[in-house]
Amino acid sequence: MTTADTAPETADQLRTTVCPGCGAVLVATPDADGQHPGASASCWRLFQVTVRGLRDEAAQDLQTAALLQLARDTYDAQHLLPGGPAAAAVRLCLERDRGQDPLAAAALAARVEDAAPRSLQPPARWTTTVADLAADLDVVDLPALVSAWADATWADWAPAAPELRRAADTALTS
Ligand SMILES: [Zn+2]
Repeated sequence: MTTADTAPETADQLRTTVCPGCGAVLVATPDADGQHPGASASCWRLFQVTVRGLRDEAAQDLQTAALLQLARDTYDAQHLLPGGPAAAAVRLCLERDRGQDPLAAAALAARVEDAAPRSLQPPARWTTTVADLAADLDVVDLPALVSAWADATWADWAPAAPELRRAADTALTS
């Protein structure tokens, strides 16, 4: 048994982690719950819990599938690996700036991956994270939340928007 296991409950509740991708400060959960590159285990778990209802319906409903894809792209655009292709940010550009349906943008996967810039500096902070999304879920519909989250995340990427637009247009026309 580790020290953490025997610590009083209050101390246990205070154990938090800062997500390396989006900066969300969340109660620590075991890594065994699953991992997403560039994200803390708690952040990834919270995202999965938040979109669980969409996952259940996506197979039967195209609109839900598109919303789930938009949520995934937004999440991924906040959790890029340093030096990796900014493919999710390019997909977000296609969706929020170039008017592409998220499923159509996802279908361009290989072309987006090829065109995506690799050395972009991600925003230093994010207007909205999955923690905000989860906190507002009781009072606002998930579709409205995901849409606002996607818009805010695309706006956060503004300094890199010219490069992302170039990559998006290359993926559309190549
Ligand atoms: Zn995160």
